[in-house]
Amino acid sequence: MSQLDDHRVAEADLASVRDRPQVVHDDSVALRQKRFEYEMLQMIEEALDRLNTGNFGACQACGRTIALLRLQAIPWAGIA
Ligand SMILES: [Zn+2]
Repeated sequence: MSQLDDHRVAEADLASVRDRPQVVHDDSVALRQKRFEYEMLQMIEEALDRLNTGNFGACQACGRTIALLRLQAIPWAGIA
C-alpha cells in the first residue's frame, strides 16, 4: 500500500469516528421511537381486551367509569 493509500485509509477512519456521535444519537432516537410504538400497541391491545371482556370504559385502578370525552380523545385510556 502506498503512502497516499495509507493517508486515505486514515482519513476514512477519522470520518467514521467523527460521525459516531450522530450515529449513536440516531440509534437512540430510533430505539425510543420503537419503544413508544411498542407501548402504544400494548395499550391498544389491552383496550381491545377490555372491550371483549366488557370492562372497557372502567378505570383499571378504581373501577369508576372513565369520562366519555376522555375515551373519545384517548380510546385506549385505562385510568379515569
Ligand atoms: Zn380510577
